[in-house]
Order: sequence, then C-alpha cells, then structure tokens
Amino acid sequence: MKLSILSEIIDPSAIPISKLNLDQKSMNVLPDWGVRHVGDLMNVGVEGLQSMRNMSRASIKLIGKRLAALNLQLPGYNEFLRDDDVSGNGEIGRCRSRSCAGDGIVRGLRDLVSQKEYEITGLCQTCQDEVFNGEEW
Ligand SMILES: [Zn+2]
Repeated sequence: MKLSILSEIIDPSAIPISKLNLDQKSMNVLPDWGVRHVGDLMNVGVEGLQSMRNMSRASIKLIGKRLAALNLQLPGYNEFLRDDDVSGNGEIGRCRSRSCAGDGIVRGLRDLVSQKEYEITGLCQTCQDEVFNGEEW
C-alpha cells in the first residue's frame, strides 16, 4: 500500500481519476472513453474532452483545476479558459460536409467510433448518422 502511494507521488500520471474528486457527470463519461488515469487525461487534453458527449465546460474546468493542483497543465487548458466568454455553445469544430445535415457545427460526438470518424472525415454527428444510417460498421 505504501509503495503504491509512493509511486503516485513519483508519477502523477498513474493516479486513478477516481481519486481526483471530479463531478459525477465526468465520472460517468470518462471511463467510456478509456480515461482511467491522470495520464489518460493529459493525453486527451481539452480538445478530446470537448469532443465527448455530455462533457460540460464546468466539468472540463474542474478537471483542469484538479490537474493544476498536481502541478500538471491539461493540454489546451489556457486556451480553453481564454475562450470561456467567447463561444460557450460547446462548438469543437465545423462540419466538413458541404451539405451538412445539421447546422454545420460539430458540438459533441457520441463515442470513440464517432470521434475516430470525425478525425478522418470531419463529419459532425448528424452527418455521420445520416451517412451510416445508424448501422454498425
Ligand atoms: Zn454535418
């Protein structure tokens, strides 16, 4: 037991997110995206968090604060705080489809599969749903 605490002090990325005292909403969303340790949070950064459906700005702010307490800077966090007053609509990007089935704004993606699809094609969730018609690929 003592040893595991020691290793966490040496390597904060090994700390489980369950110890960060995050809000319940985050704890519902993050494990579905494979985020289990502080190191995973550092890997996804603000951009990754914003692409997660049901992840609110308040939740991201809390995560950024908790990591700051560990002397870690969540990637993109400063920019995120700077944009705080500007957007506020959860926009993470613009849909690359010229005939977007939605309103042209990418706000949140359902899961990792949709996230991967977005990285490849740049399609918003609405367009993805349109194209794949809800079928599993
Ligand atoms: Zn679209």
